[in-house]
Parts: sequence; structure tokens; C-alpha cells
Amino acid sequence: MAIKILSDDLINQISAGEVVERPANIVKELIENSIDSEATKIEVFLRNGGLQSIIVNDNGNGISESELPTAILRYATSKLTNSNLNEINNFGFRGEALPAIASISKMKIISKIQNQNYASLLELENGKIISQKPSNRDKGTSVSVYSIFEKTPARLKFLKSNRIETSHCKDIFLKIAISHPHIEFKLNIDGKNIYNFHYEGVDYLINSERISAAFGDDFINNSLEISSSKNEYGIYGRISYPTLNSSTSFNQFLYVNKRSVKDKKILGAIKAAYSETIPKGRFPMLVLFLEIPTSSVDVNVHPSKTEIRFENERMVSGIIVSTIRSKISELTRPISKNIEKNLTLSEEGQVKLMEENTNTNIKNYNKTDTIFNGGHINFQPSVKTKAVKIVPEIIDYPMGAARAQFLKNYIISETKDGIIVIDQHAAHERIVKEEMLLQRKNNKIESQILLIPEVIKLSSAHLDVVLDNFETIKSIGFEIEIFGDDSVLIRAVPDLLNGANIQELIKDVAQELFETGAQNSIDQKIDTIISTSSCYGSVRSGRDLSIEEMNALLRKMETTPNSSQCNHGRPTSIKLSINDIEKLFKRR
Ligand code: ADP
Ligand code: MG
Repeated sequence: MAIKILSDDLINQISAGEVVERPANIVKELIENSIDSEATKIEVFLRNGGLQSIIVNDNGNGISESELPTAILRYATSKLTNSNLNEINNFGFRGEALPAIASISKMKIISKIQNQNYASLLELENGKIISQKPSNRDKGTSVSVYSIFEKTPARLKFLKSNRIETSHCKDIFLKIAISHPHIEFKLNIDGKNIYNFHYEGVDYLINSERISAAFGDDFINNSLEISSSKNEYGIYGRISYPTLNSSTSFNQFLYVNKRSVKDKKILGAIKAAYSETIPKGRFPMLVLFLEIPTSSVDVNVHPSKTEIRFENERMVSGIIVSTIRSKISELTRPISKNIEKNLTLSEEGQVKLMEENTNTNIKNYNKTDTIFNGGHINFQPSVKTKAVKIVPEIIDYPMGAARAQFLKNYIISETKDGIIVIDQHAAHERIVKEEMLLQRKNNKIESQILLIPEVIKLSSAHLDVVLDNFETIKSIGFEIEIFGDDSVLIRAVPDLLNGANIQELIKDVAQELFETGAQNSIDQKIDTIISTSSCYGSVRSGRDLSIEEMNALLRKMETTPNSSQCNHGRPTSIKLSINDIEKLFKRR
């Protein structure tokens, strides 16, 4: 399509503004141009957080030799055809990105259209054309951007570390890749291939390597699919269980008609939808695709186009709230999920289950003890039971009355309507974590001074992250000092972690911080540190508990937020209702 300069009239309609604040904005604009050119393969190469170079290759329709110099002029676009902005189907339409990027960098564009025998290379420096010459490549376009902001040091100053800039670029790459499953995407950072996403169809993605890459596998296992539409409005995606939440809205990927947005109204609707199920200040994780008739959305609010205006805001919020709420309300028995699966086993599966049961039973017979069913078969229970007097009222509590512990890690409790099996380590870990978070929130952190301070020798990478996060680590109750070149000294630990293996704890915290990366906010880091530490402060599997201790744990679970899932998103308890049990025994 021909590239034309927009009329003055139209220029004035377009909200003015800069598109380029940081490398990630460039990555976004270039990828979006590739998508608009109908590419089916897009490759992104970054060096030094994009500051050294950003290269985006595509196999799209390309730009002809004669139009290449026009493409980098302000307000030159091939995408806005009629002179109104009411129906926007492309990503671009302002004709602002290429000139804005060119003005703060050295840029090379090589492009080839289908019916031109050769490619054309255009070289620019700070917005000025240096040369244009014939070149070589297949159909498509490569845009290379170097030396960003070199001539505008003021902007350079505002950039964060290369690591942070890289993570912003990665974030925008993932957001775009998730909403374009029909396009193959590659990302290479500092010479390393980070992602290589294959074609994944044309539907909205609710489960894919792209989503796992962005959110982790835990998300897939602890989330629900949503899909609903009404009139011309649709909502699709994947939403986390309320128990899988995070301290920021960073893990909320929102899209309107495939355009990634960060819209306050949508964020507000999500918050409202989860309001009764999620602790204050926490955010669910989700990928949400909204489908709204293009004529009812205005994306021309902000140059980065991440803010939008809806013609019918109430309707949009209403759909979000009602769809999410009704989905979450189905979660009244989240812990029974696995059991339901067993109950609907295929015949083959049932046979297998029976065989497994028989085998375990045989293993458990021991030939000298009890008379069983008339024969001399001795039954050695795998369950470690202790004589307990059941106090009748305890059974009325939601988590019931502890009856036994087995495998030194599972507590069995009896409730009014069934039994619950509790993973003592997982449950206690959550309790310790929530307590530490609460103490921190109330500014009442209790520390315990160690009798003998611990010297902990760390690898240089670990020492680096620990030093980077020194104040954060202190803020949750550790007294920590640098000790020599390669060690830290711990003088005090949070009260709740007293008795823990401090050596392993600090190394584990360092490793977690190292893996989760510098891009995390302070809150996320605190979450990481507390989650990791609480594992060390909790009762280990393998410890015998008295019935009193078990009951104390159950009572604590009843009052602890999020106690049905451990810090890693696994369930802490599984309930078998009488109903379930009777079904298993074919009494129903
Ligand atoms: P916009 O995307 O708003 O039109 P840009 O400044 O981003 O403005 O791009 C200007 C024009 O250059 C586009 O309208 C398009 O015609 C052309 N263009 C830019 N990048 C590509 C690409 N990767 N493939 C094909 N054409 C491109
Ligand atoms: Mg563009």
C-alpha cells in the first residue's frame, strides 16, 4: 500500500507524544511494524539491554526501494487509509515510530518486497539519511538500531541497569508473542537464544509454551480457563486461583483486541472480581484477552497505545467482573480436584488403581501379629496411630480433629463430613510465611540474637545479590554484616526462623534472589526472601508430632490466609468427604 504523509488535519487529531523512552519501547514498535506487515516469523536480537543494539527481522511484506526514504518521515504511514481514526485494526497508524527511533540512534533498514529483485538498504544517523544502496535479503524487513540515546545523554541517565532494560524488553516481547500465536518468534539476548516459539494456531492461547515462559509452570497448574462471550464482546484467557497471587500487577497480561494494554479500568475490574478472595494488596496472575468491537474502542489516547477508552465502560467492567467471579466461585472445593479425577477413572484406570491397592496391602501384611479375617495374616499399619481421646467439639472445626500422623509428614484429621490429609511441612511453611509477612506489615519484626554468630561463605554471584539486597534482608529481621572478601556474618535471625539451618537458608535465599532477577520490585524480593526462609522455619517432614502439636497446626491453618496452598502453590491439604469415600467403595 502506498505510503502517504497525513494531512495537517489528521496530524492535529493525533495525540502528540514521544514513543521512545527506553529500549523496550523500540522493541515494541519494531515488532508491531513487523506484525502489521503480515510477517509469520519475527526475530529479535538485543545487546546490552538494547542500548548497544536492537535488531528486528521479519519475513513480512517489506518496503519498496522508492518508499523506504518516506517511511522514516514523520507522520508517514501506509496504515491509515480513510481520514478518520474511528476504526483502527493495525498496531501502527501514527507514522511516528520510525522517525522517532531514527532521531535518537544510528539506524539501518534493509527491506525487500515480493516483486523487486533486490533489497534496499537505508542508513541513517540521528534521523538524517546517510546513504541508500541496493542490498541483499529475502522478502521482508530488518531494522537495526544502534547507539541509542548517545546524542541525548539526558535520556540515557534515566535508564536503569542493562539487566532491568533487558527484562523490560523481554516482558514486551512475551506480551506480544502471547497474543500472536500464529507468528513464530525468536529472542536472542547478548548472543544467547532465549526463546524460540513455534506456530501455535490462531486461537487465543490459554495454555502454551509462551504462557509457561512468561508465568512459569506453576501458573498453568494453579489457574482456570475462562471463555465467555456476549453480543460482540468476548473474554478469554487464564486466571490464577486466588491462592496464587503476587505482590504486584506485573503478572497481569491484559489485551484488548490483541493489543497489550495496561488499563486502569480493567485492572480495577479484576481487583473487584477477586476482592473477596484475595488478601488486600495482593494481585492475581492472569492472561486476559478482551474482544471488543473496534468501533467501540479508542486506542488513540496515549502514544504508547497502552491506555484505551471504551465506549461502554460499564459493560466491559461488568463482563470482566461477572466472568471471573463466577469462575472463581466454582472453586469451593479446590483441594478435591485430584480426587474427582480418581473417581471418574476409566475402567483400565480403575483396574490399575485396584492392583496398586492390592500390592500395597500385601506389603503391609506382616505374618506374626494380628488375626485378620480368620486367617493368620498380620497387619502392620503403615499409619502411625496414637491413642487419642477425641474432644467432641474439635471435630466441628473446619480442619477437624487430628487423629494420626503417617510417613512422618502427613496428618490425618477427622471432620464432621469426612477426613482431611494434611502435608505438615507444606502447611507450616505457609503459616510461617504469612506470619512473617504480617509482622513485617505491622512493623513488629521479632529477631533472635544468635548465641554464636554464623559466618557464611558465599560464591561471588551469591555475595553480589546478597549485597544488592542487604537492606531488604535486614528489613525482615536478619542482622547481617559483610565479613572479609567472600562471606557474610549473621548475628540475628527473625524469631520465627530460630533453630533453622542458617547456612543453608542464606545460600538458598541468595540463589532464589539470583534466579528471580533484579527486575523484581522490593515487595517481590521480600516475598522471595520470606518464602524461601519460611521453608527453613517450618516443621520438616520426618518429624514426629504429638496430637496436641498436630491440632495446634490445624487451628493455625484455619486462621492463616492462603493456607490451602503452600508457598509454591501446591495444596497443603486434601479433603475426602464421606461422599467421596462412599463413591470409592462403590456404596453410591
Ligand atoms: P506506523 O507503523 O504508525 O505506520 P512507523 O513509523 O512505525 O509508522 O512506520 C512507517 C511506515 O513504514 C509503516 O506505515 C509501514 O508502511 C512501513 N514499515 C515500517 N516497518 C515495516 C516493516 N517491518 N515491514 C513493512 N513495512 C514497514
Ligand atoms: Mg509502527
